[in-house]
Amino acid sequence: MAKQQTLHCSFCGRNRDEVKILIAGQEGHICENCVEHAQEIIGQEMIHQPDKSAVTSNYKLSVKKPMELKKFLDEYVIGQDDAKKVLAVAVYNHYKRMNQKIDNDVEIEKSNIIMVGETGTGKTLLAKTIARVLNVPFAIVDATVFTEAGYVGEDVESILSRLLQVCNFDVAAAEKGIVYIDEIDKIARKSDNPSITRDVSGEGVQQGLLKLLEGTDVLVPPQGGRKHPEQKLVKLNTSNILFICGGAFDGVDRLIARRINTNAIGFNVNKDQQEYQRKNLLQFVNAQDLKAFGLIPELLGRLPVVTYLNPLDAITLRSILTEPKNSLIKQYVKLFDIEGIELIIDNDVYDFMVEKAMEYKLGARGLRSICESILTDAMYELPSQKVKSFHLTMEYATRKFKISKLSILKVA
Ligand code: ADP
Repeated sequence: MAKQQTLHCSFCGRNRDEVKILIAGQEGHICENCVEHAQEIIGQEMIHQPDKSAVTSNYKLSVKKPMELKKFLDEYVIGQDDAKKVLAVAVYNHYKRMNQKIDNDVEIEKSNIIMVGETGTGKTLLAKTIARVLNVPFAIVDATVFTEAGYVGEDVESILSRLLQVCNFDVAAAEKGIVYIDEIDKIARKSDNPSITRDVSGEGVQQGLLKLLEGTDVLVPPQGGRKHPEQKLVKLNTSNILFICGGAFDGVDRLIARRINTNAIGFNVNKDQQEYQRKNLLQFVNAQDLKAFGLIPELLGRLPVVTYLNPLDAITLRSILTEPKNSLIKQYVKLFDIEGIELIIDNDVYDFMVEKAMEYKLGARGLRSICESILTDAMYELPSQKVKSFHLTMEYATRKFKISKLSILKVA
């Protein structure tokens, strides 16, 4: 009788009981580890053979005039008119610059942008929406995860890995993409800290960003990070990548006040007045204030467009809830509709939600958790009942909110 051979992976030699899956081929087998490994190799080889494999994605840049861009932004983002206008013009000029014929006449510089505004006021949403209208790859990165090359943390080059990944390693598309760098204020130079110890997470990172922002060939690790030291680097030119940076820059209002000679002592007055002054001061923000905050002049030179976002008041929050094209309420109405249930919401419920978002200092981000806390029970129960409509009243909303976990979290 022929001796039965134990099944094993023909690539790594592991036995059947050492692997989870063993796929049979005509003359051998392959295990899940080898499949994964092979996939990685294919991914990397594809990037290095653009002609053979023609890595392309569905991105086809669509440039619109500034007023059209703003109109599109209006559909998704409430208010923030100044920021929208500045962004629309900067983006339009950026793409004009890209299409400029190369002559030795006037060279248009890049219009990378920096947006200053409290967290949750729509900075990321603006950047994301503009990328959507242009139909270019868009990546969001957080400045706080980067450190100076050679230290623990990610190298700044991995910012571009994210961009490559979102467009499926289509290098040509990535080279026209938009990168949003969040929390840029967190890498501000710590003032009065003249490098006794190295400032690896602040100024060092700012220095690292310089070359990316200005436009140069950068060798990018396609998988990002340092976890794959064996990966082949991909060359990416950043001249046509638009960088939009955002940050809350807490305290920059005092610097603005100092510059424009307003009496900053006023900040010790009551909260409403403080908020009012802050709101009004931010509109005067410029590169000088950001330098005073701790961004190095070279970096600011590469982020020539500075704009600001207003804090959100109750009226804006109310609009955010219902007006944007994919507003939260429209999303819930859709969710119920898919279930065959008409969702009817009383007007005062919207006011209640806004009131709670303000009271609990949750901002626009909190509107979602407030909606969830009110509607989860209905979304849990109704699919099993044969109802055609659900009426969300103030009484129901108050009752559900009161027993939700959210109501415990009230900030003093
Ligand atoms: P930031 O980047 O300024 O911290 P985000 O853009 O991430 O804030 O905003 C958080 C969420 O709040 C967004 O996903 C959006 O739902 C909502 N939001 C904030 N500001 C606005 C706005 N002006 N218009 C519409 N929605 C907004």
